[in-house]
Amino acid sequence: MTVYLNGSYVERAAAKVPVDDRGFLFGDGVYEVTRAYDGVLFEWERHLRRLERGLEGLGISVAASVRDGLAEISERLLRENGLESGDATVYLQITRGVAQRTHYFPPPGTPPTVFLSASRLAVPDEIRSKGAAAIAIPDIRWGRCDLKTVNLLPNVLAKQQAVVAGAFEAILVRDGTVTEGASSNVLAVKDGVLRTHPLGPRILAGITRDVVFELAREAGISVAETPVTVAELSGVSELMITATTADVMPIVRLDGRPLGDGRPGPVATSLHTAFRARMERQCARAGAR
Ligand code: PLP
Repeated sequence: MTVYLNGSYVERAAAKVPVDDRGFLFGDGVYEVTRAYDGVLFEWERHLRRLERGLEGLGISVAASVRDGLAEISERLLRENGLESGDATVYLQITRGVAQRTHYFPPPGTPPTVFLSASRLAVPDEIRSKGAAAIAIPDIRWGRCDLKTVNLLPNVLAKQQAVVAGAFEAILVRDGTVTEGASSNVLAVKDGVLRTHPLGPRILAGITRDVVFELAREAGISVAETPVTVAELSGVSELMITATTADVMPIVRLDGRPLGDGRPGPVATSLHTAFRARMERQCARAGAR
């Protein structure tokens, strides 16, 4: 596997980051996971915008030449790692760089660390066909969940709790409402309306969430950015999560109890079909250019 680190393409095992990297010491950095299909990045512009918002939010400056080269680096990694067909992801991480350990920022001009790698994505279609299980747990994260930082400890603990419970995802609850998943956004169908938490500091603006909401509107499904309350949760007709690595995944069991009829519902199924079609169409068109 070839990866990209600070201007060089190197074997994964040879890619080394110094122990004084602020990503290692503080989780002081941002990341993106971008979907690729047939060697073409899906919704790259949206990922780049979110990355730029994150860098701005953390006050990490990246040269325009670096930012403008990220798509090309991603595509080269897909090519060089034999990922020109089928489903893959590109992981991208930018930290505040290497500097003597101080909580405050290092001197201006400290170059950020830029790392990218591409991997095959095993699309979880088998789980999707039956629907996945989830647990609901308190959302203990900080007040800027809109920034996609590598400081993921609460998400790591939440996901591990889900795995231990035999579940696919942990659904996070704050002040009596569902915010999002440990690594996904959460959408529910209630009284015929597709609902999700509004954008803001409590959730990450998921790219899949955005695309799925657009597809739902196009399909004439009523949508609302109104959070689902815990009291409503057990009575929703459908629950689903969206994420770059899972597309649209129906949730059919919550805390060990079946939701609805315990099978993937029609809205989740049709949105997943539409999402997949949009991705394949967009990537084929871009690849043909
Ligand atoms: N929310 C959180 C906390 C995430 O970590 C992720 C993805 O990793 C998402 C939502 C979904 O975002 P996207 O659809 O851009 O992958």
